[in-house]
Amino acid sequence: MAEVLVVVEASASAGVKKVTLEMLTIARALGTPSAVVLGGAGAAAAFAEKLAEYGAEKIYAGEGDEVDGYLVAPKATVVAELVKSVQPAAVLLASTQEGKEIAGRLAVKLDNGLLTDAVALDADGTATQGIFAGSAVVKSKVTKGLPIVTIRPNSTTPVAAPAAGTVEQLTVAVSDTDKLTKVVERVAEKKGSRPELTEASIVVSGGRGVASADNFKLVEEFADLLGGAVGASRAAVDSGFYPHQFQVGQTGKTVSPQLYVALGISGAIQHRAGMQTSKTIVAVNKDPEAPIFELADYGVVGDLFKVVPQAADEVRKR
Ligand code: FAD
Repeated sequence: MAEVLVVVEASASAGVKKVTLEMLTIARALGTPSAVVLGGAGAAAAFAEKLAEYGAEKIYAGEGDEVDGYLVAPKATVVAELVKSVQPAAVLLASTQEGKEIAGRLAVKLDNGLLTDAVALDADGTATQGIFAGSAVVKSKVTKGLPIVTIRPNSTTPVAAPAAGTVEQLTVAVSDTDKLTKVVERVAEKKGSRPELTEASIVVSGGRGVASADNFKLVEEFADLLGGAVGASRAAVDSGFYPHQFQVGQTGKTVSPQLYVALGISGAIQHRAGMQTSKTIVAVNKDPEAPIFELADYGVVGDLFKVVPQAADEVRKR
């Protein structure tokens, strides 16, 4: 079976991201998954166990300062050279800012088609993409070259399938034009006690109805009580109630937790795009006509400032 290259998303602090495990799971339908780790020296060894557990037969290590010391361009070059040498059946990348940029550059280098934001991929390379903020789906196929596809986080449930995970060092040869933008400093995101938003199994999000940055403490406290992550609507972010990296939706993060709690969120289509695949959705809104109730499994029509403290009391009793 031909190899399917999965470009790994991982970080030293968070380890291998869930989306990578999803891609390794999806890749198995098209061939034998191989992981491609692009980072500083020793990155592949650090992630090898997890990657092998989820089906990576080979782990290609594109490591060192030439890759890690610059922005995305050298990574695309390394993957392009690898594609030329192993002739894989497909290349999968995460639909993240970096994944999409590598994918775009890779497609240009190989004069190849590209599909972004797929939520499923068939064995013949047909991708399913959500369009119009997820309100319709399109099935598409690359017509020139191999399928280069970016996969949206939370598209599938990762399934372990232990494989050899043999690490193979790549010779990294990048050109001067790949080095036009250099990393000057890296500042690790402050790691709190809450789970990462896109990986959390419980997310409690606040919207404009929360009414102020101060009031977001209520959202945070409820999330902490449930052991969940905190999210926010764009209206809440734009109003300065909560930082942008927590925005859920079309122009924010995509989440698919077991439980999504929407507090004071109307349920606009662009917000739904980032959370509608959550397993159970609970909404608290004082407007019985709010569109979020069309989507919610459980809805409470009421003032969140009364409902949330009561719900928190009930949770504490258990
Ligand atoms: P509102 O729509 O103002 O809703 C607030 C809700 O709170 C109302 O339903 C109200 O009844 C309720 N409420 C008020 N007070 C209380 C109370 N005390 N108790 C209970 N309920 C109360 N939005 C996103 O969220 N994410 C995105 O990624 C995103 N991307 C976008 C991209 C584009 C191109 C565009 C055009 C828009 C995008 N939006 C996005 C914005 C989106 O259209 C909505 O404007 C936004 O989601 C509304 O946020 P909200 O529900 O918090 O606010």
